[in-house]
Amino acid sequence: MDTIIIGGGIGGLTLALHAAKVAGRIRVFEAAAEMKALGVGINLGAHAMKEMSAIGLEDALVATSCQPQDYAFFTRHGQLVYRQPWGKAAGHLWPHISLLRSDLQRVLLGAVRERIGDENFFTGHRCTGVTQSGGRVTAHFAAPDNTALPPVEGDVLIACDGVHSAVRAQFYPNEGPFCFRGLNLWRGTTVTKPYLTGASLARVGARHSTIIIYPLRNNYDGQGNQLVNWVCEIERDVAVPMDWNKPGRLEDFFPTYKDWVFDWMNVPELIRNATQILSYPMVDRDPLPRWTFERVTLLGDAAHPMYPQGGNGGAQAILDAAALARLLKRESDPIAALRAYESERLPVTSKIVVQNRTAPPNLLVDLVEQRTGDKPFKRLEDVISQDEMKAIMEDYQKTAGYHVNQVSRPQG
Ligand SMILES: Cc1cc2nc3c(=O)[nH]c(=O)nc-3n(C[C@H](O)[C@H](O)[C@H](O)COP(=O)(O)OP(=O)(O)OC[C@H]3O[C@@H](n4cnc5c(N)ncnc54)[C@H](O)[C@@H]3O)c2cc1C
Repeated sequence: MDTIIIGGGIGGLTLALHAAKVAGRIRVFEAAAEMKALGVGINLGAHAMKEMSAIGLEDALVATSCQPQDYAFFTRHGQLVYRQPWGKAAGHLWPHISLLRSDLQRVLLGAVRERIGDENFFTGHRCTGVTQSGGRVTAHFAAPDNTALPPVEGDVLIACDGVHSAVRAQFYPNEGPFCFRGLNLWRGTTVTKPYLTGASLARVGARHSTIIIYPLRNNYDGQGNQLVNWVCEIERDVAVPMDWNKPGRLEDFFPTYKDWVFDWMNVPELIRNATQILSYPMVDRDPLPRWTFERVTLLGDAAHPMYPQGGNGGAQAILDAAALARLLKRESDPIAALRAYESERLPVTSKIVVQNRTAPPNLLVDLVEQRTGDKPFKRLEDVISQDEMKAIMEDYQKTAGYHVNQVSRPQG
């Protein structure tokens, strides 16, 4: 079988590696003229790492990441609300990892070049559309200067071309703008001393202003400091530009955090000392009724753009890729494989899109804030019980597919 993959991001590269285990020719076409180190931190839970392990990349990814051992939630007054073991410390067989997206892409790309051959990875190929006839699919391309490139034919085409997918737009020309419900993100990295356990994923605040903090690399400077990622989520009326590489301005979000000084973290200092700051809006799209059109299907953000939270953006693209490769191997008819992939993955990811809007992990701090009127509490147990918080967390983990019973202790 001749497989065309559009997009050399996280989903496209992972698909190429899983599909390389299924016989046939695989070619990846990426719009960017060169592969640059872009983005800040990204999280892969145990469910995604299980799939990375299946393609032999667990050790390489662990070597370039941090593995949080606990997940802690605080109010914006710095009061601990909930804390639970995370990753392997929670009983998983695979770690949860936090790393620079550029490191993830570097590891994936190195393996792709080695396993499918450099000659099958094409940069400077922006897909402009697809056509199908006579049992084949044809991809059409433009170069970075917009001149047309020769079309390419294959048996199946998988669109992994991200949030601004050209292939999705061809099948859904009237989708309109992304859904923005009043939250913007400012993301950055800072070299700083280890905080809390030294391996803590921390979330402070609730809906109107939150910061999420996690380490990406230990001993980053040879003096024991970590490279730490942080993401500030703030309610705003207007969305910042939807560009993963858009630099963020300190003055647009810093005032919200200027007094967030806790015994374990000086948030204003963390933000002020950033090595880079990027901005991005919290946007998604309503789930689609259909991803597969004969020999063409959508994967990752092209299929199900969702709020970048809960460790889902990259992980769900990885799970899509693993499922699709498995089904391409199982089904002799590639069209049946693409349909089976849609039946398996569309309902699951649609549920995550909706739950990220309505009941994301920080719902538990939201509830505390609502019940206390955003004031410090005296006794947490008068506000919310451990059981209620545990239920919220377990519900989210089950929807996202990374509950320990789903990944590392499957029943039956
Ligand atoms: C530059 C960049 C930086 C990012 N930074 C972060 C980050 O810091 N933290 C985070 O959590 N997530 C980040 N993301 C998003 C995250 O990687 C994705 O949400 C997630 O990994 C889903 O993977 P994907 O393969 O569906 O999409 P992506 O990983 O976004 O990959 C899509 C790929 O398709 C390419 N492409 C787009 N259009 C075309 C076309 N018409 N023809 C051919 N190729 C095309 C893009 O250049 C890109 O390489 C970033 C994405 C990008 C593109």
